[in-house]
Amino acid sequence: MDSSRSWPATAYHSSLPDGRASGRIAVEAEDLVFHADSLPPLRMRIADMDIRFGGFNNQQAYICHSQLPAWTFLCTDPRLLNDDVIASHPFHGRKARRTNRASRNWPWPAKALIALTVLSITGIIALWTFRGEITDYVAGKIPVSVEEQLGEAVYAQVLSTTKESEDAALKAQLDAITSRLVPAIKDKRYAFKFHIVENDTINAFAVPGGHIVIHTALLKKAKRPEEVAGVLAHEIAHITRRHSLRNMVSSLGTTAVLAAIFGDMSGVVDGAASLLGQKYSRDFEREADSKGFQYMLDAKLDPTGMIDFFATLAEEEKKSGGGMSGALEFFSTHPATEDRMATLKEMMKIVPVGTVFEPIVVPAEAPAPIVPATP
Ligand SMILES: [Zn+2]
Repeated sequence: MDSSRSWPATAYHSSLPDGRASGRIAVEAEDLVFHADSLPPLRMRIADMDIRFGGFNNQQAYICHSQLPAWTFLCTDPRLLNDDVIASHPFHGRKARRTNRASRNWPWPAKALIALTVLSITGIIALWTFRGEITDYVAGKIPVSVEEQLGEAVYAQVLSTTKESEDAALKAQLDAITSRLVPAIKDKRYAFKFHIVENDTINAFAVPGGHIVIHTALLKKAKRPEEVAGVLAHEIAHITRRHSLRNMVSSLGTTAVLAAIFGDMSGVVDGAASLLGQKYSRDFEREADSKGFQYMLDAKLDPTGMIDFFATLAEEEKKSGGGMSGALEFFSTHPATEDRMATLKEMMKIVPVGTVFEPIVVPAEAPAPIVPATP
């Protein structure tokens, strides 16, 4: 037997002990011959044998022949298929080449890589499809206390670049509004803290955990307290719906957020600055509008204040000829204003006819203390 043309093989037949025998299969002239110590050589003509391929890599050759009925030979050595006699056979050769091509071009590491790639792509698609749900799930696991710590860090950043207003009249105006609005918020998880900061741009924004920052210009430019209340109701909704936190979870990634849950705030606080001036998605803005609208109704405040504020903004923009740089920050962080006005107007239609709103009463400015004339 020419060992360069013989390969380990197994013969299967019911007459064999355990139904099988190990040996070698050899190409001899025009025949394939199975040799085993316990058996006489078993010979079959290559020309009319039957080869089928199987196994995980399709390289196990199962060989049968009508000359040896009920016998099956298995050879797992791929070199058998490359033997000249088999490779040049018009039918077996084509079958073998097909099998070889399939397995040579795609060795198992490549197959594993392809499988991994397919799995990763599927995973990425799934993550992308369910990113909102995943973000919400992770955000939902973050306790309000962590959100508050984070809010403190963000608010400290605000204070590092601006200062709180000492204007007593503006504070009184704000108190009159918040004392109406806050008790009506049914979500009691957050202690809202309102801050007026010196700033000529018309803006207000919420920080996770309960801080709401209002620029002096917003209070000064609003035509009536209900306009401010509308803005605050909207900002409160950003907090109660945890929009900032959800934005943060999706931008910082879950690792930093999980670190925060386990007490390591450093990474998160570093990212806190990115929360300033952040834009919310249209969905978040819509949600803040409709929640805010509900808060206004709950507080018996006229929700048209929300719509009027947009009109005031538009007027200010016109007055400035669109050139007042930064004055309309609120517009830049609150896009799609036309849409939102239209939606708010639609929402007004569901307010029951005859609903009575209670106007916000802002105390008149306290008279200057009378200084007794010195004699
Ligand atoms: Zn908003």
